[in-house]
Amino acid sequence: MFKKCLNCNKDIYVKPSQFERKKYCSRKCKGEYQSKNPIAFSHLSKKKLIHCDNCGNELQRKPSSIFDKNYCNKECKYEHQRKIGSTIN
Ligand SMILES: [Zn+2]
Ligand SMILES: [Zn+2]
Repeated sequence: MFKKCLNCNKDIYVKPSQFERKKYCSRKCKGEYQSKNPIAFSHLSKKKLIHCDNCGNELQRKPSSIFDKNYCNKECKYEHQRKIGSTIN
């Protein structure tokens, strides 16, 4: 099956199993196309702004990686857990 590269319009051969997924002749074309049309791809990297539960730092996270408690890193997580522990005791 043949399809046209979204970026350079060149005919590309695609396996039927990859027909829906394949849109470019090369990774270079993919990069070029996405950088020319950033808005069309913004949904792919839609991140939410949240705050670290320990230090309040702003964090950009994908919805799939937002939890009940969120931290910038392991250190913040441990520190916060220590703090909670100390207020309970
Ligand atoms: Zn191309
Ligand atoms: Zn933090």
